[in-house]
Formats: sequence, structure tokens, C-alpha cells
Amino acid sequence: MRRGGSSSPRLDAEMLLSHQLGVGRTGLYVRFQEPLTGNPLEAFLDLVERRIREEPVAYITGRKEFWSLLFEVGPGVLIPRPDTEVLVEDVLRAARDLGRDDLDILEIGTGSGAVSIALAKELNNARIVATDVSEQALDWAKKNAAAHDAADRILFLQGHLFEPLSTKFDIIASNPPYIAEATYTNLPRGVRLFEPVEALLAGPRGTEFHEALIAGSRDHLRDGGWLFMEIGDGQKRGVEHLLKEIPWLEDINVTADYAGLPRVAGARRKRS
Ligand code: SAH
Repeated sequence: MRRGGSSSPRLDAEMLLSHQLGVGRTGLYVRFQEPLTGNPLEAFLDLVERRIREEPVAYITGRKEFWSLLFEVGPGVLIPRPDTEVLVEDVLRAARDLGRDDLDILEIGTGSGAVSIALAKELNNARIVATDVSEQALDWAKKNAAAHDAADRILFLQGHLFEPLSTKFDIIASNPPYIAEATYTNLPRGVRLFEPVEALLAGPRGTEFHEALIAGSRDHLRDGGWLFMEIGDGQKRGVEHLLKEIPWLEDINVTADYAGLPRVAGARRKRS
């Protein structure tokens, strides 16, 4: 598998084999001595073949864990990344600070629905609106919401940024596309070949969506409400600067991910 470029060949193989056999990863060790032959072997080798062609494991198995919940993923939707759990944590902290539980929360660019569904699970009385420009992504998100009993807790809307919205929110969260045009080719081949470009690619600066999210928050964020945006490598100072330039924002902060890298930029709308 190493030839295929995977940095975690053993884990990948275990994920594919446990998927093929319909057992958990520990189940593999229970059946450690059992030879793999015949059809199951053939089927497993087909999965390995796909992985060698750099298809992400999550697309091959059709699912990915996020916030200890399983999400279905496939063509047309970004695979949720563990680092994005920091965005969920920031929203939960803000929700606690706001001290009410009937909050209006907006997620822009929901993809698989992972962030909004995790929030629905944690905040029982929140009203959540989740948007995406991609119809295909929204289909995955709705399916995932139904599987997690959260379909009646989240309103899914299709459209560009704030266009489908007319109301205000206590918290706005987004993991927007933030790869700058010039760095797109540096992404791993498997990402470029299989994951949707519209989920990843911003414009020449990489921060175009952050700029648009900040601008749009003016009409859609309540006084005292919070805006949180995931950021990419090297974007901390630029996005902090964008937030500091806005006179109606305060409490600008950046949270680090599990690797210690700056990952989520946040700011609060001043209370009038
Ligand atoms: N929230 C998910 C997906 C993030 S990827 C996660 O964290 O895993 C970014 C998402 O933004 C993609 O689903 C993409 O379709 C969506 N998107 C791209 N351009 C958009 C736009 N102009 N308006 C709304 N959503 C957009």
C-alpha cells in the first residue's frame, strides 16, 4: 500500500478488511488465525486496488467517524476531518457563555452535515439552520441527519452563502473552502482526484470565503452573537486582521487544533 502513497497503510488495510468482513477492527484480531480465501479475499483485494488508486478509505467504506458519530460519505461530499471538531467545541463553549439553550445557530457549507448534527446532538433546544451550495452535499447531510435522529432539528437550505437566509442568529459557524488557487496542486492526489473541488478551493487569496462570511454576518448575527470560521495553514494572521478591522466585532480569538495549529478564528458582535 505504501506505493499508493498512504501514510497509514496498516490502518487503511484494517479498515478495509473489517469493512469487507462486516466486523469492527477488534473483530479482526478475534479472527486473526482465520485464513482469508475465495470471494471475501477477492472482494477485499478489490478494495485494496481502489486504495492503491488513492481513493480515500472513507469513500471506499462509505463512512467516516466525526464527534464519535458515524457519517455516510461518498462522491460529491467532503470527508469530515477530525480538526473540524474544534469548530464544534468553540460553538459549544459560546453556547454555554450565552447562557440560553434555545439558540439560533447557522452553519454555512454543511457538507456531510457533521458539524450541525454534532451540535444538534449536544444542544437539545437549539434551532439549527445548515446550508450548502451543493445539492449533492445536502443529500448526504439530510441522510445523515435522519440516521442520527436529527432531521427535525436542522433546517437544510440550498444556496450561496447567506442568500437563502433572511433571519438573524446567535452563532454562525463555517468550515468554508479555504485553499488558495496557487496551493491547490499541493494537496494530496487522493484529495484532488476524489473530493469535491468546490468544498476546498477558494480564490487567489484563500480567504475569500472568510471575507464574505464576515461581511454577511453584519446582517445575520445578533448583538453579542459569535462567528466561528475554520482556517487553513498560514491564514491565522490574515483572518485575525480581517476580523480586527471590523468595528462591530470584538473578542477576536483563534483556537488551536489537536496538532497545536491555529484552526478556528472567532469573534463576537458587540452588544449595543
Ligand atoms: N462542514 C463540512 C463541509 C466543509 S467543506 C465539514 O466540515 O466537513 C465546505 C462546504 O462548503 C462544501 O460542502 C461546499 O459545497 C460548501 N460551499 C462551497 N461554496 C459555497 C457557497 N458559496 N455557499 C455555501 N456553501 C458553499
